[in-house]
Amino acid sequence: MASVHFLCKQCDARLAREAGEPSRACEQCGAANDVVAPPDGALIEHCAACGHPELYFQKDFNRTTGIALVVLGSIFVPWTYGLSLLGVTILDYIVWRLVKDVIVCYDCQAVHRAYPPNPAIKPFDLVIHDRHVYGAAPPGAEEGHS
Ligand SMILES: [Zn+2]
Ligand SMILES: [Zn+2]
Repeated sequence: MASVHFLCKQCDARLAREAGEPSRACEQCGAANDVVAPPDGALIEHCAACGHPELYFQKDFNRTTGIALVVLGSIFVPWTYGLSLLGVTILDYIVWRLVKDVIVCYDCQAVHRAYPPNPAIKPFDLVIHDRHVYGAAPPGAEEGHS
């Protein structure tokens, strides 16, 4: 099920809306918002929470994934000892394939989970990020970025 995760503008509570759910006020402070998750399978072209057009994708490494990795790692320890580097590389690859990408908004950090990848969206770019956090990038900082 596709979903959007964002922060309440008023109280910073983490809110989640699943595809098909109507918008509703913040569960914590009651502040109104009109955020709805785009339907399943929709191509994400702008942020569902704030409408911002600049988005990036990243691996969905959350707490659960981290714990699963530690458990998986400890299971594979005896096995990876013999062929450590190769084993770790394979494990790395498997994990990389298992962990899905999420689409994140540069402006409000809303996370769009379980949507199909949009080829127009690029991985996290520090220059774009800095521009949002600190305003205009210093001259020359954007060389190589069209
Ligand atoms: Zn709130
Ligand atoms: Zn946003």
